[in-house]
Amino acid sequence: MKKYTLILIAITLFLSCKTTTKKDANAKLNVVTTTTMLTDLVEDLGGDAIEVQGLMGSGVDPHLYKASEGDVSKLFNADVVFYSGLHLEGKLVEVFEKMEGNNVKTIALAEAIEKDKLIGSEYFASNYDPHIWFNIDFWKKITKYTTEELKKADPKNAALFEENSKKYLEDLEVLEADIKSVIETLPVEKRILVTAHDAFNYFGQAFGFEVVGLQGLSTATEAGVQDVQELAKFIIEKDVKAIFVESSVPKRTIEALQASVQSKGHEVAIGGTLFSDALGTRGTIEGTYAGMFRYNVNTIVNALK
Ligand SMILES: [Zn+2]
Repeated sequence: MKKYTLILIAITLFLSCKTTTKKDANAKLNVVTTTTMLTDLVEDLGGDAIEVQGLMGSGVDPHLYKASEGDVSKLFNADVVFYSGLHLEGKLVEVFEKMEGNNVKTIALAEAIEKDKLIGSEYFASNYDPHIWFNIDFWKKITKYTTEELKKADPKNAALFEENSKKYLEDLEVLEADIKSVIETLPVEKRILVTAHDAFNYFGQAFGFEVVGLQGLSTATEAGVQDVQELAKFIIEKDVKAIFVESSVPKRTIEALQASVQSKGHEVAIGGTLFSDALGTRGTIEGTYAGMFRYNVNTIVNALK
């Protein structure tokens, strides 16, 4: 709490110190992003023409992420800040609100999706499930929206952004077709995905999986003993072969679930680690949006078969 107060003081200082000095006209557009999914997207769209600084790294949980003083400085010196929104970045909302009207354009990319397409949720102040990147159609809309915002912020590079966007959208088409063909190899009755927290509802909706998360939508609330018991019963009843750990959530909850199933005389495997709210390590295939998606789907299908 004390540290947080310091950060709010730092914000106030930045606001009072930020002068209206004009940037060098040739300077690259300075973009700050929050999650690794957004960083990967904006880097692909902007290429070498822009500077992108992502606040969160691989394995970082956006629900719990708090801005450091270094982040506050990056945010207030940015030309544009792209964040996911729908209260995914629950602890950064206050910082974004303070930034409004301070020459920094903050853009919630969830705005690209029509509200009636979103899944409702009582866990978030937004009243919607924020894990929108797991629907590829949504991601295409987000790609187009981000492209338009980059063009507005940096018109001299508009043609480049447009070209990169076209290529990115074509890659998403290939990704979607590949994923569908992998999922088709898994019998419909085996399409049950049990994970540590409810990040995969949009994935389930788009690709025909029943999705059950132990922790509810946000990792801010811990799963109780009763939740574990009930989910263990469900796994036994439905004869689920495997359950999954997530890279940005401690694995003890899923291990407790496995132990609970075993205590009832049944077996369930831990099918692997899925990337839910953060991509894999930068520079690896799983460190990209498409690589993460392919890795998750292969892991899920192989373990549930
Ligand atoms: Zn989440």
